[in-house]
This record gives sequence, structure tokens and C-alpha cells, in this order.
Amino acid sequence: MDKILIVEDEPALIETLEYNLSRQGYRVTTAQDGFSALAMARQAHPDLILLDVMLPGLDGFEICRILRQEMNVPILILTARDDEVDKIVGLEVGADDYLTKPFSMRELLARIKAHLRRVRLIREEMGSEDETPNGTAITQRKLVFDNLVLDPDRHEVLLNGNVLHLKPKEYELLVFLAHNRRIVLGRDLILERVWGWDYSGGSRTVDVHVRWLREKIEVDPADPQRIVTVRGTGYRFEG
Ligand code: CA
Repeated sequence: MDKILIVEDEPALIETLEYNLSRQGYRVTTAQDGFSALAMARQAHPDLILLDVMLPGLDGFEICRILRQEMNVPILILTARDDEVDKIVGLEVGADDYLTKPFSMRELLARIKAHLRRVRLIREEMGSEDETPNGTAITQRKLVFDNLVLDPDRHEVLLNGNVLHLKPKEYELLVFLAHNRRIVLGRDLILERVWGWDYSGGSRTVDVHVRWLREKIEVDPADPQRIVTVRGTGYRFEG
């Protein structure tokens, strides 16, 4: 049974969504603000997320951007504003789809079905072992690079079996690098994907965080083997 997380702060809409999705046989969990949405997504590992944009706490775009770094779940953004800008931002932060309120329940259900099917096909192709006997994906695969292990389920990084204490952005940066192993990543791209498309801190931010990460994961931070500098461009994660 597929699990759907509804992130929405409008009680009437939550009720309608919950009713209709449960009736279709989905297991439904809900979160009503940005921070509980993140916690719920990390804890419950939903198969799909319906994400409102205007929320107390973090907004939907911010949530989407953060979750995108951590999990591969389809994210459908729901917004009250019929605004082209929203749509573009939604896609830039990694949303899979976009629906403008008010939407028809039939349209929503069709899209949900299509995305769940797409994910299932990808999983089958990859021969994923992440499936439990009832067919629900529960855990994410750990990323193992020799003595360095990233565990997205626990939100932990281990070096030689010891948990590293990383700042949230160090963690997100490392996850992003690890997911793009051996690919040269420009500072602007890293900035956009880890800090957000409109982040104004500049690419020095990336350099500073890379330096901090190196101090934690490199044998010799002055001669990095894991996060390599690509002159004039950015960085490449070697593993
Ligand atoms: Ca709202």
C-alpha cells in the first residue's frame, strides 16, 4: 500500500484529501507546518508527497529543496496562486509536478497514480532491494565509500564507524556530492542545489563548507583525496 504525506495547513482541504486518498487505498499521513513536514517525511518515508506552498514555518519550496537532497520521493506541489513564477520555482527546487488550487480530485488522483507508477517502474529497472514484501519502499540505501558511510535513513554520517557531527548544510552538501560522485560540480550548481536558487551568500559559502567538511572527512585536509578541487570550476567527490 502506497503511503502519501499531505503537507497542508488548511483543515478543510486536509480533510477532503485525506478522505479521497484513503478511499483509493492509500495510507495517509499529514503535516500542517514546514518543520513537522520535514520530520514526518524523514520518519515515515512516504511514497509520494503533496506539498502546499504557503505554510507556517518553512514554505513548500524550501521543504522541497531540502527533501530533494535526501530522498527520491515524488513531490507534487499544490499552490493557490496561478502564477508561472511559482511553477518555475517549483521545478527548480526539484518538484516533480505542480497543481494549482482549486484542482479537481480526479486530476489529482490521476497524477498521483502516474507518479507512483513511474517510480515503481524505475525501481523495477534498478532491481532495487529496498522493497519490503508488501511492496512498499521503506528504507533508502546507505552510501558507502570505504570507511565513510552516509545513512540517509538515520540522517547520519559515519567515519570508521563513528558518527560525525556535521552542521545541517555540511550534511546536505556531502549528500549532494555523494549522489554526484565523480562528476565535476560547479560552485554555482552546488550553491543552487544545497543552499537554494535565490541564495545570496555567494560561492565563497561553498568553499567554506567544503573546507569544514574536509577537516572532518579527509585524512589530510591539506591534501584532500575525497573532495577534490577542480581549478576554476568547483569540486568533484571521489568517494
Ligand atoms: Ca497554505
